[in-house]
Amino acid sequence: MTKLRLAIVGAGPAGIYAADILLKAERKFDVSIDLFEQLPAPYGLVRYGVAPDHPRIKGIINALRDVLDRGDIRLFGNVRFGTDITLDDLKRHYNAVIFATGAVRDSGLDIPGIDADHSFGAAEYVSWFDGHPDVPREWTLDAESVGVIGNGNVALDVSRMLAKHAEDLLVTEVPDNVYQCLKASRITDVHIFGRRGPAQVKFTPLELRELGELRDVDMVVYDEDFEYDEASKQAVASNKQVMVMDRIMQSWRKLDSVNNAGGTASRRLHLHFWARPVEVKKDENGRVAALVYERTASDGAGGAVGTGEMREIPMQGLYRAIGYFGSPLPGVPFDKKHGVIPNREGQALEAKSNQRVPGIYATGWIKRGPVGLIGHTKSDAMETVQHLINDQGSWWQPEDPSDEAIPALLAERGVAWTDLDGWHRLDAHEIALGASQERERVKLVPRDEMVRVSRGE
Ligand code: NAP
Repeated sequence: MTKLRLAIVGAGPAGIYAADILLKAERKFDVSIDLFEQLPAPYGLVRYGVAPDHPRIKGIINALRDVLDRGDIRLFGNVRFGTDITLDDLKRHYNAVIFATGAVRDSGLDIPGIDADHSFGAAEYVSWFDGHPDVPREWTLDAESVGVIGNGNVALDVSRMLAKHAEDLLVTEVPDNVYQCLKASRITDVHIFGRRGPAQVKFTPLELRELGELRDVDMVVYDEDFEYDEASKQAVASNKQVMVMDRIMQSWRKLDSVNNAGGTASRRLHLHFWARPVEVKKDENGRVAALVYERTASDGAGGAVGTGEMREIPMQGLYRAIGYFGSPLPGVPFDKKHGVIPNREGQALEAKSNQRVPGIYATGWIKRGPVGLIGHTKSDAMETVQHLINDQGSWWQPEDPSDEAIPALLAERGVAWTDLDGWHRLDAHEIALGASQERERVKLVPRDEMVRVSRGE
C-alpha cells in the first residue's frame, strides 16, 4: 500500500488537528506523521497565547493531548524550521508538508511616537505573562495609567492581565516571576481605545462580561459614546452577540463609576470608543507620556470617519492589540501584505504567479490570517487535509523516506530535540512543581531547563 510520509510544522491546535483529521480520514494509503515544533513544549497559542486565568480555553489542551497520546504521531520539539531543519530536508524525507506555524508577531501601528519606551505589542506582553521561553523574564509595571489600543479579545486579555490583582491569579498556572511582577504593579487606570463604536467591537460576550466581574476594578464608560446612529442600532438589533455586549455595556453606564464619578475600586478600566490613535507623546527620557487620539464618528455604514477633534490621555505605558501577523518561513512563499502563506484552500501558491506549489500546504492562522477562535481551526484543517489527500499524484518523491533519517539528521546537526516522552516528563515536572504550592501547575520558563527536564538530563 502507498504510504504518505507527512511533516507538519507547528504543534499548536492547527497542526495537531490537521494530524488528527488526516489519521482519521477515509483514504487509500497509509500515513506516518512527524510533527515539528520550535518550542520544547507543544500546544502553541493554547499554552503561550491563552491567558492563564482562562482555564476553560486552556482545557483544549486535554483534547490535543489525547491526539498526541494515541501514539501514531512522532513529535520533534525544540527544532526550528529554517535552521535545524530546512525545506530541502523535508523534500528529501517526506511526501509533503503542512505548515501550521500560526501568527505570533504584533501588527505594526504607523503613528508618530509608537517607538517610545514602554510602548509594546500585545504579543510581547502575552508571551511574557504566559512564560514563553524566548522573551525576557522581566517586565516593568511601574505605570499608574496605561493605554490598550484595539477592541478585540486580545485587547481584553491584555487589559484584564494589567488590571487584575495578582492574588486573583494565584490559582492559575501563572509563572512565578509573572506573579511577583504583577504583585508589585502600581497600575490604577487602564484605558482601552476602539476606533469605532460599542456596536462594532470584536470582543465576544463572555470575555467582555468578565471585565465587569474583576475584583476591586470599576468599569468606566462614557455616555457620549452611546449615541447610536441607524447603523449602530441596526448592528445591535441584527446580531445576538452584539446585542448581548451592548446590554453588558449599557449596564455599566448605570453604575456609579460611570465617568469615573463615585467608583470605589482601587483600579479602573475605561472604555473609550470613537477614538483613533494619532500620536504617542514621549517624556524627556523617550518614554510614553500620553496618547493623542482623534475623536471619530460613524460613517453610517459601520465604519468611522475623523472629526478633527484631538484629545489626549496621559499614560506611562501603551499596548497595541490590533492583531497578530504571521512570519515568513525560509524557502516558503509568503504574502507580505497579509502575513500568510499564499494559498488556495490550503494548497500553497507562488506569491507572484499564483501557481500551485506542489507538496506544500498551510492550515490555521498562517493560512487564513489571525482571525477566529481555536475551534475554527478544525474546519480549516479539514479543507487542507482533503486537498492533500486528493493531490496524491503531485506529492514529492523523497530520496530517503525512512523513519530513522530525521533523528539521525538532527543528531548529526547537534540539535537537542525533545520528543513525546520528553514532553510527558516536562508536563509531570510542572504539575509536581504546582502540587508543592497547591496549584495545578507551575510552568517552567527557561528554554534550557525545559529541554534538560524533557531529555531527562
Ligand atoms: P481582532 O479581533 O481582529 O481585533 C483587532 C482590533 O484592533 C479591532 O478592534 C480593530 O478595529 C483594531 N485595530 C486594527 N487596526 C487598528 C488601527 N490601526 N488602529 C486602531 N485599532 C485598530 O484581533 P485580536 O484581538 O488580535 O484577536 C485575534 C483572534 O483571536 C480573534 O478571533 C479573537 O476573538 C481571538 N481570541 C480569542 C480569545 C478568547 O476567546 N478569549 C482571546 C484572544 C484572542 P476594527 O474592528 O475597526 O478593525
